[in-house]
Amino acid sequence: MSQSIDTRCVQAGYTPKNGEPRQVPIIQSTTFKYDSSDAMGALFDLEAEGYFYSRLQNPTCDTVAAKIADLEGGTAAMLTSSGMAATFLAVFNICEAGGHIVSSSTIYGGSFNLFAHTMRKMGIDVTFVAPTCTPDELDAAFKPNTTCVFGETIANPALTVLDIEKFANAAHRHGVPLIVDNTFATPVNCRPFEWGADIVTHSTTKYMDGHGGALGGAIVDSGKFDWMAHADKFPGLTTPDESYHGIVYAERFGREGAYITKATSQLMRDLGPMQSPQNAYYLNLGLESLHVRMPRHCENALAVATYLAKSDKIESVCYPSLPGDASFELSQKYLPNGGCGVVSFDVKGGRAAAVRFMEALKIAAIETHVADARTCCLHPASSTHRQMSDDELVAAGISPSMVRLSCGLEGTDDLVADVAQALEHV
Ligand SMILES: *Cc1c(COP(=O)(O)O)cnc(C)c1O
Repeated sequence: MSQSIDTRCVQAGYTPKNGEPRQVPIIQSTTFKYDSSDAMGALFDLEAEGYFYSRLQNPTCDTVAAKIADLEGGTAAMLTSSGMAATFLAVFNICEAGGHIVSSSTIYGGSFNLFAHTMRKMGIDVTFVAPTCTPDELDAAFKPNTTCVFGETIANPALTVLDIEKFANAAHRHGVPLIVDNTFATPVNCRPFEWGADIVTHSTTKYMDGHGGALGGAIVDSGKFDWMAHADKFPGLTTPDESYHGIVYAERFGREGAYITKATSQLMRDLGPMQSPQNAYYLNLGLESLHVRMPRHCENALAVATYLAKSDKIESVCYPSLPGDASFELSQKYLPNGGCGVVSFDVKGGRAAAVRFMEALKIAAIETHVADARTCCLHPASSTHRQMSDDELVAAGISPSMVRLSCGLEGTDDLVADVAQALEHV
């Protein structure tokens, strides 16, 4: 029988042998020594497994990636320097110039910019769809050159819950994979592969690290998508790679390994957004308590959301686990144990009232961050989503008076009291 996610958070990925270090060793080395050029040549031909240069792979990073793959129920994973690097590599690994992405419109502001602006400059087109769209509307967003679908389990900061099955079914009807950013839910609260997603990405900077200590990202492959069955859409995986003597990733590494092997040996090699072994070590410390921390983040957020929902100074509250929330039903299906610690709400009195409320908070600090042990808050319209037009803001589920409060691990009553006293100033 497989072990619980609690045990795997603590133990997966690293099993020391007799006399070896109990803690994951930090292999702080850019390079690795070999006895012969032939031995190293086999690595360069992808004929043997091993390490040669930490821009591509590093043992500490691989150990921690293996834990994340285990937690998500995937077959392979890689770490990246940030969540944005994970999102970019996950898409770019299967979508080249001339390709097209279908994406939920309620996604992280950085991912929105990446798709709407930066990747467009690379010749990759995107169509945004409302997460609440009907299956027909979703089908209509696909084009002959669509190569993937993208969404977030719980959108940051709109907090809409993705109907993963609906998006996965649409993707599969069109012969492409669904990529899900699972940053906010974490595999403790949702494992998108169990609902049909094919690839998962993470900003490990958030709950996985959990302490605001180290930037990082991860990409996990479910190993389920059949690239060869849709070979014409994914030439990068199904035709020879001339930069590796003509190997065909999907043939050589199969469904389980092709996608991550290509992302490592091609994209990491050429672009280099690798996580440092030191950051991977910190990330692993965070992962060891993820299953203990997530329920507390959720408990605190539900208490704050419940308080806000009763306050006459609040226009509206968004928290998927709160009965009556627009995503409540989806949260019961995909996130029965709770979603995340982030609550968003509109303070009556618009932008100025939101700003006054935030400045009166004593425990919660104003930060461009979420998913930290310490409670923090942010005004998306004047910070993370500042570059968006009003129409784009509305499509992303954000209003000018929205406050995003990321409930940390402090005492529940203290957090509710802090929110209550700050509302007195509004
Ligand atoms: C923060 C975040 C990212 C980007 O991650 P970085 O580590 O900051 O690059 C991507 N997706 C979601 C949902 C996020 O919250």
